[in-house]
Amino acid sequence: MKVVAVIVAAGSGQRAGGDLPKQFQDLAGKPILRHTLEAFLRNPNIAAVVTVIAAGFEAHYQRAIDGLSLPAPVLGGATRQESCAKGIEAAAAFAPDAVLIHDAARPFVSNKIINDVIAKLHEAEAVIPGLPVADTMKRADGGVIHETVSRDSLFFVQTPQGFHFEKMRSAHQTIALKGINTLTDDAAVAEATGMKVHIVPGEAANRKLTTEQDLREAANRMNQHDFKRHSDIRIGQGIDFHTFTAGNSVWLCGVEIKHSHSLLGHSDADVALHALTDALLGAIGEGDIGTHFPPSDKQWKGAKSEIFVAKAVSLIAARGGEIGNVDITIMAEAPKVSPHLETMKAALSQMLHISPDRIAIKATTTEKMGALGRKEGMAALATALVKLP
Ligand code: MG
Repeated sequence: MKVVAVIVAAGSGQRAGGDLPKQFQDLAGKPILRHTLEAFLRNPNIAAVVTVIAAGFEAHYQRAIDGLSLPAPVLGGATRQESCAKGIEAAAAFAPDAVLIHDAARPFVSNKIINDVIAKLHEAEAVIPGLPVADTMKRADGGVIHETVSRDSLFFVQTPQGFHFEKMRSAHQTIALKGINTLTDDAAVAEATGMKVHIVPGEAANRKLTTEQDLREAANRMNQHDFKRHSDIRIGQGIDFHTFTAGNSVWLCGVEIKHSHSLLGHSDADVALHALTDALLGAIGEGDIGTHFPPSDKQWKGAKSEIFVAKAVSLIAARGGEIGNVDITIMAEAPKVSPHLETMKAALSQMLHISPDRIAIKATTTEKMGALGRKEGMAALATALVKLP
């Protein structure tokens, strides 16, 4: 079953205070939206993730997703229902069998809830997570209780809400044609068009962050949550050297820089990416660049070193790991690296799927000492922190 997630981040979220809608506010070092997107991106049952944002917040969105591979965001409508409909229309490009619609402000969504909703969709056309009501419920008017409501059949409803894709797409179209645009969840759209909506257990942690107090409490919770998920903190280092040869450019951190010489190597000789690859592989104890790409193998001749980094990144992802940060030092008398730092960081951010503020690139000369000082070549050192489950 091909499942696409639609993340609804188009709300104004003013109840949480602050200058920004809450989905763009920071929670334990990352925007709330990024926590939510990463939860879906790391679930192997999700084929693609579509985000719906409000017009005017494109720059905030770009900052929040730096380094993540995502399709262009969809601009939302005047109401939540209209925003969801637009997200569903955009998801059609992936031809999914099912769609999960999720609130951006629920960053604690677990793999278990996502997988439970998907599993139930194999036998049901609409599935939502819900929590039974534990407290006694009363109906009141003007501050006076009128009756006690039986809580037996009441649920707090959460997201992700899952639906068979074409059924949900046409349900949204049908409801919109009737002039209804204020339904507050997708299950209501499904119910209004006669779909049978099934319930699976929700989780208390999967609460929607709404108020300023929610955000304060969530910061602690997220740090613990992250630590529980990735408590095995690893560090790796890498070092590499390449000599200069005739040529007119060098590759550094995936960026081509004009120079009086090129670096000699089997691949594109990107000394910084080689050191980085070794640091990443070192952190997970998976050998070094030569283990995975033997220089004796002709197929890597002239290869872009990005593929070496991609291999290390995929090995980390396969173990459910996450890169915390990387720190690279380039050693050479020339060329000057500083004019290219931002371009290099952007390239690394794409390769590593982390935001540029988790990437450091520094350069130093060796004060004309030794082979590097005599401009015989370049060297690079890299350190990487990797968090494993
Ligand atoms: Mg090398």
